[in-house]
Amino acid sequence: MTALETASAPATTATPALACRGLSKRYGDVVAVEDVGFAIAPGQAYGLLGPNGAGKTTTISMLVGLLRPDSGTVLVGGTDLAADPTRAKAKIGYVPQEIALYPELTGRENLRFFGRLFGLPRRRLAARIDEVLDLIGLTDRADTKLGTYSGGMKRRINIGAALLHRPEVLILDEPTVGVDPQSRKAILDGVERLVEEGMALLYTSHYMEEIERVCERAAIIDHGRIIADGTRRELVSLVGTADKVELVLDGDVETAFAKLRAVEGVVEAARTGASSVRLIAEGGRYLLPALITAVDGSATVTATQVIEPDLEATFLHLTGSTLRD
Ligand code: ATP
Repeated sequence: MTALETASAPATTATPALACRGLSKRYGDVVAVEDVGFAIAPGQAYGLLGPNGAGKTTTISMLVGLLRPDSGTVLVGGTDLAADPTRAKAKIGYVPQEIALYPELTGRENLRFFGRLFGLPRRRLAARIDEVLDLIGLTDRADTKLGTYSGGMKRRINIGAALLHRPEVLILDEPTVGVDPQSRKAILDGVERLVEEGMALLYTSHYMEEIERVCERAAIIDHGRIIADGTRRELVSLVGTADKVELVLDGDVETAFAKLRAVEGVVEAARTGASSVRLIAEGGRYLLPALITAVDGSATVTATQVIEPDLEATFLHLTGSTLRD
């Protein structure tokens, strides 16, 4: 069962670790973010799921105080970011997409540098660095130069740096993009452990399987707006009982695609590659014979896959486009 499925209702009594309301940001005519709001309780992981350019980074930049919103408020552990930025920011651990570390220093030395930068006392820092290295799974490589690390290991050091001051909320912006599978696993395992220990997490990704695994609740963001939010079950129920059906076609794919769209029961259709299509269809698994017959004369169906509704299907249903195009 995924984290999203096991989710309980959000805590309403405790002060949220992170809350925002009515956040908006425009760049000239471009509405980057509009009226975004959510609350994350301690020990809760919240996902922001959306394609590139949806407004995730702009939202995060406003949450961490790097960008002034045109309107809206941000509260970090009850502290208003605009009124008391120093206090609010001290409760946040932020890991941006870009990696900024020193290749000539070892992993441990990089962490020490950032720890000193945050003003952590030298005595406590050494022990904290050991804890953080364990959490990000880099104890073994701590004393080799960062320049020899893979991109994923550097990303893990970046996450470690954001954890040194024991933030109440950790904000990760697409932490697994361009990361090797071993580091991806270490990152996902590490953040799950942190959330279990009570940290609040804001996790952005365009990989819905990561959001499903890590987050209790998620918001789907598109063109700067939250178009749906809730637990996985709540989000998926928006699609109804439809299945996702993926077909690989050989032949005149364009014509076959048009025919498939017209089949009764097909509610959404998208081209996913030169010879592949994805359909959302009521009772899709029972519709396969009709789909195969429909393309007859134009193309042959060479592979099929039926998948029960997931966040990707919800996204497709709500926006009419796939997450990764
Ligand atoms: P990505 O994962 O690619 O960073 P995103 O979901 O984080 O995508 P944003 O980077 O927040 O999206 O961008 C949202 C919108 O705002 C996009 O249309 C983008 O082109 C625009 N935008 C972002 N920053 C600026 C800027 N400094 N000036 C003008 N437009 C911007």
